[in-house]
Amino acid sequence: MAPIRLAIVGLGKIARDQHLGAIEATDGIDLVAVASRNAKLDNIACFHEIGDLLASDIAIDAVSLCTPPQGRFEQAKAALDAGKHVMLEKPPGATLSEVFALAEMAKAKGLSLFSTWHSRAAAAVEPARALIAKRKIKSVSVEWKEDVRHWHPGQAWIWEPGGLGVFDPGINALSIVTRIMPESFHLVGSELTFPANRAAPIAASLSFETASGIPVGAEFDWRQTGPQTWDIRIETEEGSVVLTHGGSRLIVDGVAQIVEEDREYRNIYRDFVALVNNGASDTDYSPLVHVADAFMLGRRIQTEAFED
Ligand code: NAP
Repeated sequence: MAPIRLAIVGLGKIARDQHLGAIEATDGIDLVAVASRNAKLDNIACFHEIGDLLASDIAIDAVSLCTPPQGRFEQAKAALDAGKHVMLEKPPGATLSEVFALAEMAKAKGLSLFSTWHSRAAAAVEPARALIAKRKIKSVSVEWKEDVRHWHPGQAWIWEPGGLGVFDPGINALSIVTRIMPESFHLVGSELTFPANRAAPIAASLSFETASGIPVGAEFDWRQTGPQTWDIRIETEEGSVVLTHGGSRLIVDGVAQIVEEDREYRNIYRDFVALVNNGASDTDYSPLVHVADAFMLGRRIQTEAFED
């Protein structure tokens, strides 16, 4: 099959840190254009915005949206209307209803829509899923604590409505837990800590339960300096299963099993090529459903103002 001709929209941190290298390393897909208001790449057709790209005569088959979630719906809709396959960075949108609408549009047009969850593509996630399927789970606890100043310097959108605040990284943990748990779970308690001067939370404390009563707890915090924590601990009757480093490492009953280099974005682009070539979509929005619930059931606590 001819390689998919791809355009990146929003040449910011994640596009540069991960997408460019992953596309380069993936067979069956070539970067042919970029649409970004303030950034350009050498030797690639560059446009100011997605509208200019779609109105041009450059031939593309697909777009990868690496913009903030607010505004992603209009970009994705424009691309689908123009007959292009669409890959969405996480979170897939600013609201649930808009992402459900995109799934319907893609289906009606016979185009591929891929709602990516890069943390699900981390090395230890599928092995952990297979392992706990054979065990009896007693509890799950998530600790996702990082330094917002280090990871999101100067990103104003992340503190605005729809930017999700601490759920921007926290949704990565939820994307793993929704993938590995053998049964679904629902929110029973949520405390959200908002800086006095911000519209999005800096910390969240969540309690979930599965239908059979297994407790799932999650602590998200953006105020952690020093060592960073991206851990998911599953206690089972047969011993502990722990995912660390954002899902790239697995420790079973205290013994390290998987320690692998990061391949998340190469796995995502490999999957996108397969979806497009098979005429399929992947639109699992369950992590975003839990985040929406957290806001819906959330008790708001105010804390000191946050300055970059
Ligand atoms: P970013 O550095 O702010 O980059 C996003 C780019 O989108 C900007 O550089 C900007 O480029 C463009 N853009 C278009 N409309 C915009 C608007 N209204 N406000 C701000 N930028 C706008 O953000 P990012 O960290 O790359 O994150 C983008 C998406 O990737 C988010 O959904 C995020 O959750 C996800 N993600 C980020 C990371 C990470 O480590 N940073 C990891 C995984 C996933 P122009 O100004 O040139 O148009």
